[in-house]
Parts: sequence; C-alpha cells; structure tokens
Amino acid sequence: MSNPPTLQSLNPADDSVVGRVTLTPTDQIPTLVSRATVAQRAWAELSLSQRRDVLAPVGKHIASIARDVGHLLSREMGKPLPEAIGEVSHCGHTFVSELDELADALMPETYVDKHTQSKIFFDPYGVCAVITPWNFPFAMPHWLVCPALMAGNAVILKPSEETPLVGQAYADALNTVLPDGLLQVVHGADEQGKALVASDVDLIAFTGSKTVGQSILNQASHHLKRVILELGGKDPLIVMDDANVKAAARFAARNSFRNAGQVCVSTERIYVPNSLADDFVAALVEQANQLRVGAGIDERTQVGPMINRKQRDHVLDQINDALAKGAALVTGGDTSQVGAFLSPIVLDHVTHEMDIAREETFGPAAVVIRVHDIDEAVALANDSELGLGGIVYGTDIGEAERVGRRLDVGMIGINRSVGGASGTPWVGAKQSGYGFHKSVAGHRQFTQIRVLSKRVDNG
Ligand code: NAD
Repeated sequence: MSNPPTLQSLNPADDSVVGRVTLTPTDQIPTLVSRATVAQRAWAELSLSQRRDVLAPVGKHIASIARDVGHLLSREMGKPLPEAIGEVSHCGHTFVSELDELADALMPETYVDKHTQSKIFFDPYGVCAVITPWNFPFAMPHWLVCPALMAGNAVILKPSEETPLVGQAYADALNTVLPDGLLQVVHGADEQGKALVASDVDLIAFTGSKTVGQSILNQASHHLKRVILELGGKDPLIVMDDANVKAAARFAARNSFRNAGQVCVSTERIYVPNSLADDFVAALVEQANQLRVGAGIDERTQVGPMINRKQRDHVLDQINDALAKGAALVTGGDTSQVGAFLSPIVLDHVTHEMDIAREETFGPAAVVIRVHDIDEAVALANDSELGLGGIVYGTDIGEAERVGRRLDVGMIGINRSVGGASGTPWVGAKQSGYGFHKSVAGHRQFTQIRVLSKRVDNG
C-alpha cells in the first residue's frame, strides 16, 4: 500500500525540512464535517460558563509550551524568535480573559416595551470552517477558533499550507481539553480550502488575501453561507508638518519592517510633506541600514526571511515597476543571502501611477510618497481599494485626530499602531474586510441571532 501524500513544511531561511503533515484527501472532508456536526450538538447543550470552564485550562497550557512552539514558529515561517515566542505566550496569557469577554458578549438579552417582552439569543450556527494565513500562524487561528467554539460551534481549521505544524500545534493545545470531533484540522492548500468551503459547513471565518476572500464569498453565495472575511491592507502613514522627523522615521521603519513587512497592518506607504522629505528619508535609511537580517532562530536577528521566494518575487516585481516609472531605490533590496531573504528597502519618489502605491506589497519596503500638503496626503491615502488601517504621526494630537477621521479605513492609530484597546473590533473598511471580529459586535458574528417574544402587559 502506498503512503498517504504529505505536505512538507520548509524553513524559509535555509530551505531545510521542518516537518511533514498528512495532506487531507478532499473526499474525506464531508466525513470530518459529519463528525463535527455530531460533536457540536452536545457542545451546544453546555452553558456559556460550562464551555468557558472546559476551555480555560488551555491558557496555562499554551503559556507553558510557548518557548517550544515559538521555536517551531520561527523555523517554520522565519519570524525572529522573541516575536515568535511572544505571539504564542500572548495567546496563552490572555486566553482566560478573552473567554470571559466572549461569555459576557454572548449572554441572552431582554427587551421590554408596553406590550411585549423579547429575549435575544446568540445561538451557534453549527459547524464553522476557519481558514487562516501564515503570517501569525498561532494567533490567527486563535482569533477565530475561540469565538467560534465559545459560541457553541464545532470548528474545522485549515491552517496555511506554509505553516501546517504551528496550526496543528494550536489545535493540539485545545484538543487537550475538548471532546472528540469538536475541533478538527484539514491540511492542504487551495484545493482543500475550496473543498471545505463547498462542504456542509454553516459559517466560514477567513483571514487572508483579498483575492481568496472574493473566491470564498463567491463560492459561499450559492447556499448563502455566512462568512466573516478579514482581508489584506495597504495601510498609509501620514507624517504631519509638525512631526519630529527622527521619531517619525523610527516609527515608520518599525511599522514597515516588522515581521519582514508581512503584517496585514504594516505601513505600506508613507506620505511626507515636501518640506520634511529629505530629512525623513535620510533618517529612514539610517534605521533600515541598522537592522540585522538573518534566520529567525538566531537571537540577534531583527528582520527574518520572507515566507518564500514567490512572495519575495512579488515584492521585487512591484519595486521594478516603480523604478521603471521613476521611483528611486535609496537602500536595500539585497537578495544574495541563501534563503528567502530581502534586506529592508527604502523607496523614494513613489507616485500613484506605480503598483506599489495601491496594491498590497506584504514585504520589507518603506515606500515614500512626497506631498504638497495634508489634503493631498489624505486624498492619496484614500486612493486604494483597500482600507484596513491607517496612521497619522504628528505633534498636535487634535489635528492628527482630525486628519485620522478623514481616512477611509477601519482602524486608525495616532502616533501608534492601529490595534485598539481590549473590547474594540479588528475591522477593515472597503475591500479589506466583510464582517469583522473581536468586540461584542464581532463576537456575535459567530452566532445565529434569534428573538423570542411574548405578550406582557406593562400597562
Ligand atoms: P491567502 O489568501 O493566500 O491564503 C489564506 C488561506 O486561504 C490559506 O490557508 C490558503 O491555503 C487558503 N486558500 C487559498 N485559496 C483558497 C480558496 N480558493 N478557497 C479557500 N481557501 C483558500 O493568504 P496568505 O498568503 O496566507 O496570507 C497573507 C494575506 O493575509 C495578506 O493579504 C494579508 O494582508 C492577509 N491578512 C489579513 C489579516 C487581517 O486581519 N485582515 C491578518 C493577517 C493576514
């Protein structure tokens, strides 16, 4: 008998094999969904606090395995080790408070008027497919699997084919406490993803690219399946006239190069007034040149490799398009290291005729667009189909806030990155998302809302 086909996980720093998983044959997916349906019925019978109590011990468990899984994560996708360990341990340390927040958000609510008393219930949909990317391979499954489970759904997780081992490690951590069949994993790429979306699942929660999001929405429309899509970004950073140039450049470098620029809310384009631009670019280049590029597992590394050569080629194609149209490569772009490495790039004199000003890059590139004034910066910042996040950097906070409110994006940061206080949603505008998660409203998207009303006389 031949062995079942496997999926190899490769280290992008040196192409070594990190491990293998068995590919899920697509014709097995309906069987997994049937198992999940059976497990879900019993899980939905539990109260919110019972589900919370089953899951709660996983928090400590994840914190205890954070070092080991962080090492695996660093080898599997290249993230610098402290950030890789941090990603896992953060999920562990916030696990229980997130469960509590979910339990609160999903409690039934009562409304009463003169003649009617209504109760709103937040019921599970049934089986939820969770399909995730590779750039935060532990946190991305976590952000979607936990809300789906707490809402009383069963989950079939399909982690990215680039990071199957970390995806499996996340599911294994939860499966130390969950009943059989409630959380299962499908391994594979687009073929498995499409088969999962086509199967008898009731809800699809997806984080990934705009193109795949569109394909999922299209496929899901045949049966009007529920979808939550968190998609790509092209986040602008607007530097105000009164900004401290050095501080702004330090901030821009950090937000452009973190995770080798492979963050959905990376700074992808920087609008700088002409009067500050020369000094800003000089400070940015200084920052970029200081960064140590290397394998994620090397503790001295600040910028790891990209996920693979295909993604690096995509970035290089955008750079070449920009150079052909008049942009200037001021530093970076070195690909000589073995592995999928690309040294941090600073590109100046970019215009909106270039692909890199409007299409997602997802690589270590700081892209500078010189502007006459803030009105021009706002108009150009809004010239993209994407609208995940945006940042305004300046000294006068009130004025920065006013400019921030003019950005057509879901999340705005003033002198900081875009993630909000706990309890706020992770949300995109325009083609960066369709539905959202986190926050009371986000948690409830994993539920079917039902209203039960009866007559009362409140006289
Ligand atoms: P991707 O869209 O290529 O893949 C994401 C997942 O979808 C993978 O598991 C993949 O196997 C699966 N898939 C591929 N084709 C499919 C299909 N036709 N049907 C169903 N599933 C399919 O994205 P990626 O390259 O893994 O990740 C990078 C992208 O994710 C970037 O665009 C980034 O901005 C985005 N992202 C967004 C957020 C957010 O919160 N908005 C967070 C992280 C990443």
